[in-house]
Amino acid sequence: MQLTNIGVIKELFERHGFSFTKSLGQNFLINPTVCPKIAEMGGCESGVCALEIGTGVGVLTQELARRCDKVVAVEIDTGLKPILEETLAEFDNVEVVFADVMETDLKSLIAEKFGDSEVVVCANLPYYITSPVIMRVLEEKLPVKAMTVMVQKEAADRICAAPGTRDCGALSCGVSYYSEPKMLFKVNRGSFMPAPNVDSAVIRLDIKSDNGLNVTDEKLFFRIIRSAFSQRRKQIINPLSGELGIAKPELAGLFADSGIKQTARAEELTLKDYAALCASISNRNK
Ligand code: SAM
Repeated sequence: MQLTNIGVIKELFERHGFSFTKSLGQNFLINPTVCPKIAEMGGCESGVCALEIGTGVGVLTQELARRCDKVVAVEIDTGLKPILEETLAEFDNVEVVFADVMETDLKSLIAEKFGDSEVVVCANLPYYITSPVIMRVLEEKLPVKAMTVMVQKEAADRICAAPGTRDCGALSCGVSYYSEPKMLFKVNRGSFMPAPNVDSAVIRLDIKSDNGLNVTDEKLFFRIIRSAFSQRRKQIINPLSGELGIAKPELAGLFADSGIKQTARAEELTLKDYAALCASISNRNK
């Protein structure tokens, strides 16, 4: 069944009485070249298992199932159930879990369904939960090798911006802390049904086993980063002083100890700089 054929999709929808829910980010892929590329560039192959988030009619699920040992997909919309039963019928290595991914214990799901196998995450993410899903996979340190996801183009640019460069933000710092992000390819808005108002891009995040930063207090590290970017045009010493309750003169000394100039702005610091600052602040009363 050609799931990128508009006629086929419309016929499926009519027969099963399905209609799109815009608020769930239901823009389904109809460009036949995209899903095979996501699966291949996402590392789907024999010996690998894939976790998908958001199946739609199963267009990407099929490509993952063709290449991987096993696929588990989390989909919130139970209205898609009869459609998926039909579109995925030929695959005995796919299981769809109908649940909200944000309410799902992904660590347990991976352990239960995949055991010790190598796991990759591949998805065309619903735009309204792009960052929370990515950060959950990273922060919960899920045992996955890589995450290859389609997101809105602007989000992809922000996520892939290197810390210490003009376009970076708290999200790119978080992503780079846990992974190596890479922009794979752009997907124009006409590749979806219905077509969204913006273009998309596929990115791949390779999870780092060790980022070499030796951060001992991650909570403080990310608090510093969030505070720094909360007023990105300002010198970070100002929001940080308020956030941490440390007077500016003392904080200036800690900046100097970390080799950071007092006038630095959030986008000028690399992750190494943030890690050094975090260590100085954390050790100040020791
Ligand atoms: N993979 C399909 C494709 O590429 O055509 C569908 C992608 S569509 C952008 C996003 C999918 O995620 C939809 O099927 C939607 O119902 C599902 N979804 C939205 N919110 C979700 C959530 N919180 N948990 C799980 N799935 C969700």
